[in-house]
Amino acid sequence: MKSVRINIHGTVQGVGFRPFVYRLANELNIKGWIVNSSEGVTIEAEGIEKNINDFLLKLREEKPVNSSITSFSFIDSSVKYFQLFEIRQSSNSQKKTALILPDIAACKDCEEEIFNPEDRRYLYPFTNCTNCGPRFSIIEAIPYDRANTTMREFEMCDKCKAEYENPFDRRFHAEPIACPDCGPQVTFYDNEKNLISERHEAIVKAAQFIREGKIVAVKGLGGFQLLADASNEKAIKTLRERKHREEKPLAMMFPSLENVKDFCEVNSEEEKLLCSAHAPIVLLRKKENNFIAKSIAPENNYYGVMLPYTPLHKILLEVLDTPIAATSGNISDEPICIDNDEAFEKLGGIADYFLVHNRKIVRQVDDSVARIVKGKPFMIRRARGFAPYPVITDSEVPPAIAAGGHLKNTVAISSGKNIFISQHIGDLDTKEAFGAFKKIIHDFQNLYAVKPGTVISDLHPDYVSTKFAEKLGLNHFQVQHHYAHMLSCIAENKIEGEVLGICWDGTGFGTDGNIWGGEFLKVNEDKFERFAHLKYFPLPGGEKAINEIWRTGVSLLSSVQSKEEVKNYYSKHDADTILNLIEKKINSPLTSSMGRLFDGISSIINLTQYSSYEGQAAMQLENIVDVNSEERYEFELIKSQKNNFDIEWRNVIKEVFFDLKNGILKETISSKFHNALVDLILKVCNLSGMQQIALSGGCFQNKFLLEKSIDMLTNNGYKVYWQSEIPINDGGISLGQMMYYNFLNKNRK
Ligand code: ZN
Ligand code: ZN
Ligand code: FE
Repeated sequence: MKSVRINIHGTVQGVGFRPFVYRLANELNIKGWIVNSSEGVTIEAEGIEKNINDFLLKLREEKPVNSSITSFSFIDSSVKYFQLFEIRQSSNSQKKTALILPDIAACKDCEEEIFNPEDRRYLYPFTNCTNCGPRFSIIEAIPYDRANTTMREFEMCDKCKAEYENPFDRRFHAEPIACPDCGPQVTFYDNEKNLISERHEAIVKAAQFIREGKIVAVKGLGGFQLLADASNEKAIKTLRERKHREEKPLAMMFPSLENVKDFCEVNSEEEKLLCSAHAPIVLLRKKENNFIAKSIAPENNYYGVMLPYTPLHKILLEVLDTPIAATSGNISDEPICIDNDEAFEKLGGIADYFLVHNRKIVRQVDDSVARIVKGKPFMIRRARGFAPYPVITDSEVPPAIAAGGHLKNTVAISSGKNIFISQHIGDLDTKEAFGAFKKIIHDFQNLYAVKPGTVISDLHPDYVSTKFAEKLGLNHFQVQHHYAHMLSCIAENKIEGEVLGICWDGTGFGTDGNIWGGEFLKVNEDKFERFAHLKYFPLPGGEKAINEIWRTGVSLLSSVQSKEEVKNYYSKHDADTILNLIEKKINSPLTSSMGRLFDGISSIINLTQYSSYEGQAAMQLENIVDVNSEERYEFELIKSQKNNFDIEWRNVIKEVFFDLKNGILKETISSKFHNALVDLILKVCNLSGMQQIALSGGCFQNKFLLEKSIDMLTNNGYKVYWQSEIPINDGGISLGQMMYYNFLNKNRK
């Protein structure tokens, strides 16, 4: 006889780990017990030595699909001659660091049940099991027990209870277990809160109105969504008008993978991501078609596509049998609605009808957005299905909060070696978004029982997140924006030692007070040095130039052409005023932003003169790139005093203008510009003497630029890192800020 005490940490709660262990113990004739601890699970196992050894091996090899183990340890224990193997009640006295799972898309078994007329959960929209269903969006506290979720309001019926208590059932301890007799139900209303129908009839009605061109708000997993028939141009235009969303592409939900393939190119990695338990919106290359409304994704080569991920969505799409636009249920930049009353109030002017239910959502969790880059998932918006998985560091980080940036904000909290990154919160431009930001910071502290002594924020003095951090009365550190981007990449990839970080994005406050964004930084843990950057240019009107990109066009062009020529060329715009602003240095901050250089070139070649959402002009420039062209412009590198380099772009602008005047295709100009950037990266890397290259910043959401840069650097012997699970855009800033604190702390010891 042998007895061991096993401690397993990681994602082992809410994934069917205890029933798996129970079954394994029975199979191997092992006695003892298992209990959920706040860090994972603890097992006491006794049996004959060979079986104990098998048990230790199989625990790791055969663990449930959604589980992951971050640490596994065991010690010998005294034999107590247990009579059976039992699952003991959770204790909640210990430290709360057990990992909380994201919401998981409905599994195959549950899907079969909801479409099987013989099954007691036939067409029941809240069907789930230990392998799938809501988690993060319904948890109020840990440990993960039904009483700590919003499912506590529903008392289990006898049948559900029997399943819940049977270790051999798929729903053993499935905390959100429910059925048509005891669980939540859907109801269907018009936008004046008049009840129209209930239960399955509610879903049928929703489908019927969507088919008729109406807009229906649906309470989903982590918040409301607005749905409309994706093939109905009029319905989509109405949705855009009412939501004040001009051109930013709308995501779609398709009834099936086969249906997706009718309208999009799907490779095997994309298919895997689309069908995964994370079930994000995946960017897929469009196929030419006349079915999907043009205004779904105007001037874009990609569609944002997802598959139905809850039983509710599955049933609705089964009834509809046609793709729908599915966008966040919010007013422009506000957080998505999660509460029924709030939704009626806020979305009543957008949606004609409401499909709601009575299971409460604890926190907003938007749909995640991802694409495949170099065969790997690449996160653009990280929320449902991914948050709040942590990034794990190699040393303990004292309790702290990172407040993130301003756009695409996320926050982070540290607990032991875990850095928990929040779900996507969004741009902190509105009072409501700032409210959500504060709420999530509060929420994370409660959930993980962390009392932070330190807060880390951006260097920008005017960000609301910085001001908020200042007022907390904690130790406050500020981290330069682009340095934080690089640290985020370093944290995610666990890079050790010095790296050359290439950080290209829209804007970030620099240590010299200028707006940075075309940066090559030498980064070594808690220190960084600016090695090269785009030569500064004036941004006439500051923030205004981000939308009115012709302002940047005028600024760039005026550095290589006479005033008269610029005025002539920009005759449709008030170039005169802009030239004056620049000359007199009025409201024209200096910038080294790569994002703005993309804008300026899009303007100069008259691809677009306005941008209605962040990165639009750059995206359009990427869309027209001729992937087969190897022609290029050339950036010049000018050595500055401190052995660093200024990147001279004037020659590029001059040639762009020259090509344009000579009737060279915009597609070719775009390629020459993109290729020049890849060359620039290689040149600077060669000068830096560094071997490890890290890429981050929103400009690298440009798939062509990112993949070509990775290939070029790899072919030249560099070790290249970029971001995959954590957004390369400002959604990754909070992780970088926390990583700074981690290094600071480590190096002070
Ligand atoms: Zn399931
Ligand atoms: Zn039931
Ligand atoms: Fe940024």
